[in-house]
Amino acid sequence: MDVVVVGSVNADLVVRVGRRPAPGETVMGSDLDTFPGGKGANQAVAAARLGADVALLARTGTDQYGARLVAGLAAEGVGVEHVMETEGASGVALITVDAEGDNSIIVSPGANARLTPADVAAAGDLVSGAAVVSLMLEIPLDTVMAAARAARRAVLNASPPRELPGELLALADPLVVNEHEAAFLLGAASAAPVSEPAGMARALLALGPRSVVITLGADGAVVAEPPTAGSPGFADAAAGVPAAAPGRVAAQGDGALGRPAGAVVTMVPSPVVDAVDTTGAGDAFTGALAWRLALGDNLPEAAGFAAEVGAAAVRKEGAQSSYPRGEEL
Ligand code: ATP
Repeated sequence: MDVVVVGSVNADLVVRVGRRPAPGETVMGSDLDTFPGGKGANQAVAAARLGADVALLARTGTDQYGARLVAGLAAEGVGVEHVMETEGASGVALITVDAEGDNSIIVSPGANARLTPADVAAAGDLVSGAAVVSLMLEIPLDTVMAAARAARRAVLNASPPRELPGELLALADPLVVNEHEAAFLLGAASAAPVSEPAGMARALLALGPRSVVITLGADGAVVAEPPTAGSPGFADAAAGVPAAAPGRVAAQGDGALGRPAGAVVTMVPSPVVDAVDTTGAGDAFTGALAWRLALGDNLPEAAGFAAEVGAAAVRKEGAQSSYPRGEEL
């Protein structure tokens, strides 16, 4: 396998409303739309549509969504032999979109919460044999950790944001976050817009991951990697690194990481497009990134390709339905 995704599968239940209800209030909304979603499934579909050999390790429920979600994934070319059925509810995201296009989302994890480290072990060499294992945080953290430990290379999309054990962070290659998630991990008081993404990427790298990608919406992405003797700017980078912010991760000095201080930072532009719907753009980016890393791209090359895929995804409505096929790029 090029890519094995260990992650979530959700049914996205979407209602459009004029405005979202205040506490205690009831508002009338549109008819209900049901879409396939979940960050794990989205990443897998993004990679499959591009031509990747991709399998998903996941759990769905025995409710009315489970079988349909699995059939949809199979139709997209995702390997579903390791999508297991769990008695009870599937993962569901309850999404309201208001007249301004802003959304509020409640995720009920359902069967995703029952994906265990034992499931990772039982999948045998599925996980350890994949060129890249792609992960996100909609499944239990100990399962994410088990998969990251077993992986030859783990791409970790730290979304939805939560505190991360230092050991997991140290296995991320890269850690992929958007600006809000980056601010969260760095312990910023608010998710205010980041004025200096390169500094943020450096500070995140100093917390311990093997490499970092921050996605920046229309502005593309920024990549930070530890310097190697041959890398451009090595001398600068080796001169010093900004002190790590008092992060939400057990901070480790670069000395403790056993590598030279500093970072090589690369800005990756995104094509300019008319954005229609950004839902799932981050998952499209991560799925595409994982695939290109599996094929042997270096991180800035893979991020450049992933930015094109993310930009293509925002040009159409929906999450998975907006993801480009290889020939469309
Ligand atoms: P979401 O939560 O909506 O799935 P995200 O916040 O995780 O997305 P973004 O940084 O918004 O992730 O987008 C991921 C990638 O998609 C960006 O790095 C960029 O390449 C592309 N992208 C997103 N929005 C735009 C845009 N308006 N124009 C061009 N490219 C975009």
